[in-house]
Amino acid sequence: MRRSLIDGHGRRVTYVRISVTDRCNLRCVYCMPESQTFRPLPHLMTREEIRRAAHLLAGFGVTKIRVTGGEPTTRPDLVGIVSDLSAIGFPSGIALSTNGVLFPRMAHDLLAAGLTKVNVSLDAAEAEHFRKMTRRDHLKPVLDSIDLALSLPFDKVKINAVVIRGFNDDQILPLAAMTREKNLGVRFIEFMPFGNNDWTDADWIGWAEVRDRLTAAGYTLSPVEKDFVAGPADEYRVTGPLGEHRGTIGFITPISDRFCDTCNRMRLTQDGFLKGCLFGHNDVDLLKPMRAGATEEELAALIEHAAAVKEERHPMFVGMQKNMLPLHARNMSEIGG
Ligand code: SAM
Repeated sequence: MRRSLIDGHGRRVTYVRISVTDRCNLRCVYCMPESQTFRPLPHLMTREEIRRAAHLLAGFGVTKIRVTGGEPTTRPDLVGIVSDLSAIGFPSGIALSTNGVLFPRMAHDLLAAGLTKVNVSLDAAEAEHFRKMTRRDHLKPVLDSIDLALSLPFDKVKINAVVIRGFNDDQILPLAAMTREKNLGVRFIEFMPFGNNDWTDADWIGWAEVRDRLTAAGYTLSPVEKDFVAGPADEYRVTGPLGEHRGTIGFITPISDRFCDTCNRMRLTQDGFLKGCLFGHNDVDLLKPMRAGATEEELAALIEHAAAVKEERHPMFVGMQKNMLPLHARNMSEIGG
């Protein structure tokens, strides 16, 4: 084991989100336009290149990997990638972020390959709203996916819902109600501006408003002690109007309550850049040097450099306008959400 990966602001990096593709089978309004085009396949890291990068990261004491995209299940070798990660060994687990549309086809194989956690994106519990958010009609397979994931021995299954005023804010209660019978963690995420989306401050809903709407509907939320490696959500046990719920509700609050001080993560993009901050520009290319024959030592030095230049904070704040931010042209699906 090498020494720990400590960034330029003294934070230890223990969690890396690896994006395996920029392709997606949905077109969520907050993520990409209907007309989104994708990179030619040779620009994506191969399974072996991902394995090599992950092996180096494990050597730096990274304990948790999340496989993301784009939509990772659109990648034919996803089970092989997960099995490589599992063979390397990440003590805090290997998680998958998926939209759930194709997940049922490979859920058992992913579990057998060593996947430990599943997050499914679901912004609406009703078909019409689902279509409005994703521009596709796939609610049924996504709901089936959630039930399938719950029936398998994964760690807690979580749902991620981005809330946008006028699009799906009337889905807050139906989504929260899903935690009543199911042992799900439903997490409401604050909508973030990216180069390619139509973010406006008027559409933005902060976590406090979501909480207030739940409280007004008869929900009581009691904080669950936070597991640092588990990520940035604040989780709550739930008592609803009909009694105690099996699942939990969480809030991911990148804008109204930024968690940069405790940020322990980096991202590896599908085209091989190690990225310190979702909104940062100090990305370090690992793939080009890898393809040019860099040694393990040279790649390790690049990883240390990427940590050293990891940005201290992201630039978002309550009351901002999109044109105040130094956004790049990339959207979440290209960076790896
Ligand atoms: N396709 C997978 C999925 O649906 O989970 C993984 C990729 S997706 C980009 C990862 C996460 O990013 C999702 O939970 C999605 O809701 C979130 N996301 C994408 N764009 C966002 C935005 N503008 N603001 C907040 N969250 C966003």
